[in-house]
Amino acid sequence: MKKSLNINGGVIEYNLKIAQQKNIILNVKSGKVNISAPPGVDCGDIEKLIQRNINKINNVIHRYNINRKISLNSKDPYIIIFNKKYPIKFYKKEIDIKLTNQMLHITQGSDVDFMIKKIYNYLKQYYKNLFQDYLNKWSKKMNLEYDELVVKNMVSRWGICYPFEYKIILNIRLIHFDVRILEYVIIHELAHLLHTNHSKEFWMYVAKFCHYYKDVKKVLKNPGV
Ligand SMILES: [Zn+2]
Repeated sequence: MKKSLNINGGVIEYNLKIAQQKNIILNVKSGKVNISAPPGVDCGDIEKLIQRNINKINNVIHRYNINRKISLNSKDPYIIIFNKKYPIKFYKKEIDIKLTNQMLHITQGSDVDFMIKKIYNYLKQYYKNLFQDYLNKWSKKMNLEYDELVVKNMVSRWGICYPFEYKIILNIRLIHFDVRILEYVIIHELAHLLHTNHSKEFWMYVAKFCHYYKDVKKVLKNPGV
């Protein structure tokens, strides 16, 4: 049974299965939330369980989605950057990591997490100017000035704005989506220079520059931007 729950401004969809068991059990598999519960279960109890675990659930879903954007699986290693699939070529010898028009070259390592970190660190430098160009474009259009841009590898946020420092942080993982999603996050963070919270006025202001923001929010599925 498909169900959904509004939570912290986002929607969590889950699959509910009724089974002969004592407790409510929650798991996240392939980016999907599954709940099994005993007959006659109180829906409020299910919602409470989701509420209590919301950060963990979002992190697991997020990691799953990101993992589909980079695969270091030896059969078909690739990375998706702005809708283009770049094969990854591994080298046994120590080389400088490099992205060309055709592929990403990297030294083979045994620790996948370490290699992913290394890739994002390299791409942070590689795409800093592009992120900066888009930020400047929207800063001019919206007539909102900022002082500093930092591109970071983050797990739970797509962007952060420090309005009092005029500082904006963007997540390098935004390269995995369409450019217009990067532009939405930029518009969103710039808008925080004017409206520090997510008020109605804030969203009306965002909509002026990004009429498609509701679709983007679905793609990013991360209430914490
Ligand atoms: Zn925000």
